[in-house]
Amino acid sequence: MYCKNCGEKLNEGVNFCFNCGFKSGEGQGYCDKCGVKVNSSTCSNCGNVIEGYNEDLNRETYNNQNYNSNYVARRPKSKIAAGILGILVGGLGIHRFYLGYVGIGILQIVVTVLTCGAGSLWGFIEGILILCGTTITTDADGVPLSDN
Ligand SMILES: [Zn+2]
Ligand SMILES: [Zn+2]
Repeated sequence: MYCKNCGEKLNEGVNFCFNCGFKSGEGQGYCDKCGVKVNSSTCSNCGNVIEGYNEDLNRETYNNQNYNSNYVARRPKSKIAAGILGILVGGLGIHRFYLGYVGIGILQIVVTVLTCGAGSLWGFIEGILILCGTTITTDADGVPLSDN
């Protein structure tokens, strides 16, 4: 039996690791059967399945997840969605918020309110132009809009 937190050898019947203070069987990072450092739920040395291994707590996996969420966040926004938002609720700048142009979106709300709604034509026309692909071809981060 080895400490799953630090890899220290634990004597039979010992409930706590004298080295790190973790309860025996708790923690992860080391195989409790052979004491080898592990970075997955199965020990690469002895094949022991690490009970209670939580992939979310694994730093390598965590970094991968971060990478994935960044990737998802930078997926291209839909030209169709932006255009339709512009046509339907362009006066509220919703299509601008959708694309990340928050400042312009707020400005469109202000213009719409100040002009008693007439200014919403701005967002409406912008929505049509987005659909035609003649204006706003990227989102606020510079990621080109997708065609669907
Ligand atoms: Zn320990
Ligand atoms: Zn092992």
